[in-house]
Amino acid sequence: MSEEIKITFLGGLGEIGRNCAVFEQSGRMLVLDCGVMFPNPDMPGVDLVLPDFSYILQHKDQIDGIVLTHGHEDHVGALPYLLRDVDVKLYGSRFALEIARGRIEEAGISLHDRMVAVKDGQRLAIGPFDVEFIPVTHSVPCAFAIAIHTVSGVIFHSGDFKIDLSPVDNRKIDLGRIGQIAKEEGIALLLADSTNADKPGFTDSESSVGSTLGAIFASHPDKRVIVACFASHIHRIQQLANAAAKNGRKVALVGRSMVRTVSIAKEIGILNFPNDLLIDIESAGEYEPGEVCVISTGSQGEPMSVLTLLASGDNKNITLTEHDFVVFSSHVIPGNEWSVAEVMNNLARKNIEVIDSEVAHVHASGHASRGELATLLNIASPRHFIPVHGERKHLLAHAGLAAEAGVEKDNILICEDGDQILLSANGINIVNKIPAPYVYVDGTVGEMKGVLRDRRFLADNGVVAVTVTISGEKIIGDPCISSRGWLGVEEEELFLPKAISVLREVVTYALITKNADVVEIKRIVKREMSKLIYEYTKRRPVVIPMVVLE
Ligand SMILES: [Zn+2]
Ligand SMILES: [Zn+2]
Repeated sequence: MSEEIKITFLGGLGEIGRNCAVFEQSGRMLVLDCGVMFPNPDMPGVDLVLPDFSYILQHKDQIDGIVLTHGHEDHVGALPYLLRDVDVKLYGSRFALEIARGRIEEAGISLHDRMVAVKDGQRLAIGPFDVEFIPVTHSVPCAFAIAIHTVSGVIFHSGDFKIDLSPVDNRKIDLGRIGQIAKEEGIALLLADSTNADKPGFTDSESSVGSTLGAIFASHPDKRVIVACFASHIHRIQQLANAAAKNGRKVALVGRSMVRTVSIAKEIGILNFPNDLLIDIESAGEYEPGEVCVISTGSQGEPMSVLTLLASGDNKNITLTEHDFVVFSSHVIPGNEWSVAEVMNNLARKNIEVIDSEVAHVHASGHASRGELATLLNIASPRHFIPVHGERKHLLAHAGLAAEAGVEKDNILICEDGDQILLSANGINIVNKIPAPYVYVDGTVGEMKGVLRDRRFLADNGVVAVTVTISGEKIIGDPCISSRGWLGVEEEELFLPKAISVLREVVTYALITKNADVVEIKRIVKREMSKLIYEYTKRRPVVIPMVVLE
């Protein structure tokens, strides 16, 4: 007997972020991950980018659950926006669930008994889906690959992973189990993380970073060391705590998310250090610089993050001086290069020494490079393969690797957001494409394509508003002109009298000779003002004409 499985990709294919897929079997649905994407520099004012949930909402009575591979924002961050409309259970590691809980409850959504904490290797029936949670190593603790056992074979989703043979918490990727599934049931379809599919070799073990961090503490005994990393990177924080303890330093945590995730991780026992190692940031000044390590968020130069504020001298608790040493224990996410460089330069202006992963081994990626991806392909030996979690170039590189590893070319599909694929006894095919637009969050959620175009134009050109008051055939007072982002104050003062007199003239003429109505007056004001501005400045700001009738 064979059964069809449909998979719909709502995000994550063609971009890094907003990972979300829907699996359908026997008329029931299972959602895998529900993440956000962080905005690109060409999305001014946007806080977050979400998958379009229309497809899920249209079928919400068919959904049996949401499975979470791990607790990164690109996998759990959009849950508050989905759960307000869909009342289903969440399945994931306790850590992933607790990370997700904060934002969901902040959004005022009650979780009552919706969270089901899953243990390593556990196999659960979720509706008709037979789902197994297989441990993998990644840059966040307790990450899972997901195997969905079906009568047509197993669908294996790697989640985000690397093959870390000496993980900090000693929780290893269960390659043995993946091999066993491949041998006993056969993996009909492998979906795997493509983030580093263009990087040769093997990703360094996370534990290799610990010794560098320890050496930095030891070689700078007179300096306070400030380390910026992701708050969810519990293994990095564990190694920092170990190195701090060994070098006689106390640890101060800064950043709301840093304090929160450390407290969750300690509470559930995946981060271990004595409580007296921690000090409040307020009391850090009472210690000699060489006695303190500050672990901070803000490794991406985010504008309001603690590190950015520290670098610009805007933090009330500590002031950075030449007695500080700053480590960016991260890699720069594409798009953030300028912000990070700005923070680094602000630090350099204060004669603060700064290092990052370009100059020292202070970071290891959480994603598998080609060597590990080839290893997974070999162990899984899937019949079909779809690269996921990556930009188009990563997906292509991963598809090429799968072909080299022996997956038949016809059995490899490169998909994009919105693609619906069908896996059946006949193989695998793209059967449909649904809309999968970016859904933007800027305070509220909405479709903002036109808005963003306007914002980019306003940012490039500025805006000029002209208000004309008319009564009958007469213009009352002077036209009122106000502008933003177009001219400097002094230039504007020189230009305005001229513009006002020209506008008065043309509007009066139009009123008397053409008996012009409001629409016509607006059109004339816009045309004349744009012309004047271009003649005077060679610029083309947005001109907004307004007419008030008295
Ligand atoms: Zn991810
Ligand atoms: Zn991840």
